[in-house]
Amino acid sequence: ARLANQIAAGEVVERPASVVKELVENSIDAGATRIDIDIEKGGQRLIRIRDNGSGIPKDELTLALSRHATSKIASLDDLEAIFSLGFRGEALASVSSVSRLTLTSRTPEATEAWAAQAEGRDMEVKLNPAAHPVGTTVEVHDLFFNTPARRKFLKAEKTEFAHIDELVRRIALSRMDVALVLRHNGKTVRQYPPAQGEQFQQRLAAVCGNDFAGQCLYIDNQHQQLRLWGWLSEAPRNHPDLQYCYVNGRMMRDKLINHAVRDAYGAVLAEGQHGAFVLFVELPAAQVDVNVHPAKHEVRFHDARLVHDFIARALADALAQAAP
Ligand code: ADP
Ligand code: MG
Repeated sequence: ARLANQIAAGEVVERPASVVKELVENSIDAGATRIDIDIEKGGQRLIRIRDNGSGIPKDELTLALSRHATSKIASLDDLEAIFSLGFRGEALASVSSVSRLTLTSRTPEATEAWAAQAEGRDMEVKLNPAAHPVGTTVEVHDLFFNTPARRKFLKAEKTEFAHIDELVRRIALSRMDVALVLRHNGKTVRQYPPAQGEQFQQRLAAVCGNDFAGQCLYIDNQHQQLRLWGWLSEAPRNHPDLQYCYVNGRMMRDKLINHAVRDAYGAVLAEGQHGAFVLFVELPAAQVDVNVHPAKHEVRFHDARLVHDFIARALADALAQAAP
């Protein structure tokens, strides 16, 4: 069992930041409104994610650690309309096969919490009573301790933490309503209070800086069942940073959207320059395929041309209106 999970881990768990992504997405799927992320030594020594979500009942803890166990999809039909971020049931099993992982959880109904740990070749799960408020904590110690080849590819502590920091920024933009705290080696590095409505601008400034938040254009556009909203910088930048894009709430690195943005800026974009944006694309789940890549960074739009042209047009209009 451990070996099969380690092979699966090769696809999903590239580095500490990928572990953080999977765990934080689980917390969001569980309805958490506050997520604390503690990192030690760039994530190699410890990744601890604590949430105040719905928790996992004692009798489901063992299942949660096994492969292809997901509580989020009941049938193949559900694959057509995925609202949760996770759905493959692989993350916990994969991560626990390449680390020393403890899953501690308590549901609102339960009077006590339980901690689960999978050990040995057979990944046999041991349960112990624990102290924990309602919600879940996942502790990942010694990532890749048993996969030296993977461990060798880890970069310096600073670099790995920078990847985690960037990931937390992406999540902080995608769920402005969720409070996030990120600590490294015991020091608070980021603290994003929960934001609603008007406060989105504050979260935007906290994540992207005042340079961007102070001068960007706000966009909200709809065409048929497509909606595009978010922020776009009027002036191009010399670095390809600050390019955040979400499709139905999932963070994406999407070529089609990047291309549409370049089209929208058009001639304004000189050689080596880039647009800066935080954009949210929303469309019916049945018009987009998210199951393209295990790490789920990519999507496939069923009508790619329609989406591309709508985004390019909406952004170009916004830029044209802003131009003096
Ligand atoms: P997936 O997210 O694809 O379902 P995972 O391996 O990431 O698979 O998680 C397995 C299951 O464990 C989830 O379906 C969910 O039921 C449960 N789970 C994991 N993390 C949490 C959490 N933070 N809060 C509540 N339940 C969780
Ligand atoms: Mg998951």
